[in-house]
Amino acid sequence: MSGIYIHIPFCKSRCKYCDFFSTTHLARREEYIHALRCEWHDRQHELTEDVHTIYIGGGTPSTLTIESLQMLMDCLPVQSTQQEITIEVNPGDVTLEKAQAWQAMGINRLSMGVQSFDDELLQLIGRRHNAQQARDAVAIAQQAGFDNISIDLMYALPSQTMERWKHDIEEALLLGVQHISSYGLIYEEGTMLMTLLDHGIIEAVDEDTEMLMYDYLIDLLTAHGFVHYEVSNFALPGRESKHNSSYWNNTPYLGLGAGAHSYDGRQRQWNSSDLESYMQQAMSHRLLPEIESLTTEQIRTERIMLGLRTNKGVSIADIDRAKATQYIQEGLLKQEGERVIATTQGFHILNRIIEDLLG
Ligand code: SF4
Repeated sequence: MSGIYIHIPFCKSRCKYCDFFSTTHLARREEYIHALRCEWHDRQHELTEDVHTIYIGGGTPSTLTIESLQMLMDCLPVQSTQQEITIEVNPGDVTLEKAQAWQAMGINRLSMGVQSFDDELLQLIGRRHNAQQARDAVAIAQQAGFDNISIDLMYALPSQTMERWKHDIEEALLLGVQHISSYGLIYEEGTMLMTLLDHGIIEAVDEDTEMLMYDYLIDLLTAHGFVHYEVSNFALPGRESKHNSSYWNNTPYLGLGAGAHSYDGRQRQWNSSDLESYMQQAMSHRLLPEIESLTTEQIRTERIMLGLRTNKGVSIADIDRAKATQYIQEGLLKQEGERVIATTQGFHILNRIIEDLLG
């Protein structure tokens, strides 16, 4: 089994917390699709196993016109309804016409960047949609036939209180979605939000409140039948993201597009994240990716780092038994058969635990 990731780096506007690679030069979209088709043509032979997931991420792939997306989908190996084919969408882009077109192309999963149902907070972090658009977008997608929808929610937003966060989760649960990804806000260097924080215009949520927000998220979602299957991801049984799970399981994937990473089980490679360089290289059929060969030790390190983020954990044979036993006694890890898995308490300080186990 293998996966394909396609990076669409276009956004209509820039969110104030974002340090991802994306551009607001939408005029280059069609040319970019042409570059992606060239790259697929040249690299499809690298996939030696059946493709079981395709993930179109960004940026904001829903900024693509139906025609452009169709041109891309036409060249990809969309073969069966058993494949999980996801597109990331902004609620403001979802119309019935687009949602029906996505379905007709074989896309069967939506990942929607909702972030919050609080208009004041959405505006503060620079999202271009409002809460009503998010509710409408989910309803439209469901009307078009999507029964596998994920939404993203952010917590620890500036001036967000526990009450406001509770309201966000409750609203999310009313939508009838199958998957929720949730991340605490990180103030990244060079972002607008970081500047506002540095100038004292906004205030960060304190660490204790952020922890309580995370605990509340886990409690409420698990009480509603969601499985906490990765540190930041929750799904109804059987609706875990197959694509993301394959990253955590060491499954090979091919990454197409500017800045996209690929992994074949031994080597990691990535394309130029400069839009012009990438398009020029792809369209002249001379891609110059950077390549890193992983040592056995690096592969083990990644297996531990990624495994401990999930509810599958890691094999006890992979980690220091004495240290693991100590964490188990402290209630931060638990052992199930041959696997060692982080507890909810452990998730709070997961990076520290991982660092120690690898040290
Ligand atoms: S939509 Fe996503 S990628 Fe685009 S600016 Fe906002 S956070 Fe960044």
